[in-house]
Amino acid sequence: MEAATDFETVLNKSKKLPTLPGIAMKILEAVQKERPDLQEIAEVLSTDPPLSAEVLKLINSPFFGLTRKVTSVFHAVSMLGMNVVKNMALSFALVKNFSNNGQGDFDYPRFWKYSLTTAIAARMIAEKVAAETAEDAFFLGLLHDMGLLALARCLPDQYQLVVQEAEAGNCSNHQAESQILGFDHMAIGRHLVRSWGLPSKFWQPIGCHHCPERLSAVEDETLTLTRVLNLATVYADMFQAESTATYLAVIDHYTKSYGYAAVLDVDQLAVAISEETHRFFPYFDIDFDDDADYLETIERARSELINVSTDFIDQLVAQQRQIDTLRRQATHDGMTQLMNYQYFQETLNREIARSRRSHSPLTVVMADIDRFKAVNDTYGHMAGDHAIKTVATCLQANLRETDHIARYGGEEFALILYNIPPEEALSVTERVRQTISELPIRFDDRTFKITMSFGIASLAGDDQDREALLDNADKALYEAKSAGRNCCRVHRART
Ligand code: GH3
Ligand code: MG
Ligand code: MG
Repeated sequence: MEAATDFETVLNKSKKLPTLPGIAMKILEAVQKERPDLQEIAEVLSTDPPLSAEVLKLINSPFFGLTRKVTSVFHAVSMLGMNVVKNMALSFALVKNFSNNGQGDFDYPRFWKYSLTTAIAARMIAEKVAAETAEDAFFLGLLHDMGLLALARCLPDQYQLVVQEAEAGNCSNHQAESQILGFDHMAIGRHLVRSWGLPSKFWQPIGCHHCPERLSAVEDETLTLTRVLNLATVYADMFQAESTATYLAVIDHYTKSYGYAAVLDVDQLAVAISEETHRFFPYFDIDFDDDADYLETIERARSELINVSTDFIDQLVAQQRQIDTLRRQATHDGMTQLMNYQYFQETLNREIARSRRSHSPLTVVMADIDRFKAVNDTYGHMAGDHAIKTVATCLQANLRETDHIARYGGEEFALILYNIPPEEALSVTERVRQTISELPIRFDDRTFKITMSFGIASLAGDDQDREALLDNADKALYEAKSAGRNCCRVHRART
């Protein structure tokens, strides 16, 4: 088995990668304007008559329970608000756009049933805990597993392995994905949704919907949306699972730990979500295999739980989180959240192998902060730490999501730039160098600047190994330091 297929392989299969249907993109653009214009949104929707017809049908159905018949999209937008109409239109557009049309074995109806359930659950949870985010929560539920769709479409064989591994290893899908692929559907989804130009309050929650604890230092709204989405996915899991009791206990746990226990009645909400999905799904031609009374299912699950201590469940969930955290700690640097030295070496091995297979160029850059001892001596060690974190953030912001960035040592960083020609690698690095040199670093009422030196080496020939490549980049870095620092040097093979 191929140890790790790369993230970029998925992202490069652009034909198979989900893109938002044109109409959805236009609706989003119109809604996201600083001053959205109802008329414009209605006009965009009206360019797709079958879509508008579906939306109007749903809006006039008992589902919305309006007393007056809505006859035009404009009327609908002004009555229900554009977020509601946007979400209905996007739901129809996405479900229709991503269906299997008789190809492949990915179970699209199941996928949409799960995503729509998550969307409905997210909206209902949000209505209780932060009503103003309810429509955004629905939208997130709808899009949250786009990464899964991308994986299944771009790497169908490996994805089959993931599903088997998750079943056999009794672990969750995202854990099996990390083991087999080296990344998971949350990372792909985050990248996709970000590439569609949506704001961070959408791509951040999608990037950690199964591990909300990974989210750090974000605004309240993003944190709330992440928690709501996470809880909604557990509800959706529960509706798919055989053992309702286990999921119910996990929902209890999260509800408490998020501080939602006072406003959320877990059981009541489960029944309400079930009823809402039963009312909503027929408009999407989604069938139900069961017509079970969910109230009864919940009551049965509760009676099973009577003998299970909540401490035990708390411990189980905590353990699960610990495993996720440990895995991350083993591969990432705690201070910058960049990959660590060891993981960088593994990644580089993988990238070299891939570069040889696909005959694509690969460049390694070693970067080191200039005269950093003096920074520590002048501004203090804490200011030094802050400078290192600022550099890490700046590197992330200025490189592609598919490049790899590691904290190689104290004030030394290593980059892998994949699939760009060596000359371009130099101009990318030069741009980064310039940006860093102009970056004001603010700490404790003082502002200072730093510079960095860069050594660049590209993979040349099939016999070159990782050590030789790193050694060449190191030599180039040494040359940059000798040349006076704050510059880039490229290693040139001697002939
Ligand atoms: P050069 O331009 O030659 O790289 O000079 P330099 O002073 O940066 O080089 P040197 O390697 O001699 O010193 C690096 C300093 O970086 C020494 C060490 O105290 C400091 N350092 C390493 N890791 C950390 C860290 O995590 N935080 C802080 N604040 N300082 C660190
Ligand atoms: Mg998921
Ligand atoms: Mg240094």
